[in-house]
Amino acid sequence: MDISIVIPLLNEKDSLQELYAWILKVMQSHQYAYEIIFIDDGSTDGSWKVIEELSSEHKEVKGIRFQRNYGKSQALDAGFEKANGAVVITMDADLQDNPEEIPELYDLIIKEDFDLISGWKKKRYDNVITKNIPSKLFNLAARKTSGLKLHDFNCGLKAYKNTVVKSVKVSGEMHRYIPVLAKNEGFDKIGEKVVQHQARKYGETKFGMSRFINGFLDLITISFLSKFGKRPMHIFGLWGTLMFIFGLLSAGYIGAMKLYKLSVGAKTILVTDNPWFYIALTAMILGVQLFLAGFIGELLIKTKSNEKHYKIRQNLNL
Ligand code: UDP
Ligand code: MG
Repeated sequence: MDISIVIPLLNEKDSLQELYAWILKVMQSHQYAYEIIFIDDGSTDGSWKVIEELSSEHKEVKGIRFQRNYGKSQALDAGFEKANGAVVITMDADLQDNPEEIPELYDLIIKEDFDLISGWKKKRYDNVITKNIPSKLFNLAARKTSGLKLHDFNCGLKAYKNTVVKSVKVSGEMHRYIPVLAKNEGFDKIGEKVVQHQARKYGETKFGMSRFINGFLDLITISFLSKFGKRPMHIFGLWGTLMFIFGLLSAGYIGAMKLYKLSVGAKTILVTDNPWFYIALTAMILGVQLFLAGFIGELLIKTKSNEKHYKIRQNLNL
């Protein structure tokens, strides 16, 4: 199979028929062997009914229905797991991403041998204040932190080699950082393509301003994980040990001071009178805790399970 199109959706029933017809037109004109995987992320507006109809009429249309709303990342992950195409395309269901981009994305992956191509909505049709300006700042921060020179991390339209989607695990709200996750897995031929963007035709956006706050926190997590995620002992263990040694030396100093003062004739010396006592105490406790955090982290990695974080209610044509 040439192409898998993975489409996560939450309450987009008005767009689905139109989106399908548009994709179909593009697929037929290029004669691709393809599949469309719709992942219904807990819609309550009857989106699933539309997917059921489409999938009963067309065997290329496949459906996954989540038990409830788990978020776009989980939906993409479920779609990635089932995708059979040599090239996997993700796009939003709201008709903001243009299916006519697919052939060029496909060629970039197959002919130019890119691992991943991320869309860039250079000219956007979204609200300037709530989206465009925060998005510029957000992307700047993401570029600096991740070292990936992409202009538009949030773009839903992306293309991947099949091996890439099978190698990354997308959880939480990490869908914005799939290119970073891919880079961490060693896929470094990552490119960008300017894509057409449309204004939302039906329904409304599912992500408010919170996306930038959450997005930024995720960015910190991801840059930390990419550095130390596989070896927590190297940071926690190091700082824990240093801290503990510092505490121990301070305690030694207090003890030595006490002995010295007693030896020159002082009557009783209380170690608690010395501020270093508290510093030493805190440093030793923190040191042990940091060390344990590193140790537990290592244990967790060793016993890491591949447990799924979502429940599927129903599958169609899969
Ligand atoms: N979406 C989803 N689960 C969610 C939120 C959104 O599957 O919890 C889908 C949504 O239906 C759409 C895509 O993710 O297909 C992008 O969402 P939206 O268009 O609201 O984001 P925006 O274009 O405003 O960035
Ligand atoms: Mg949208």
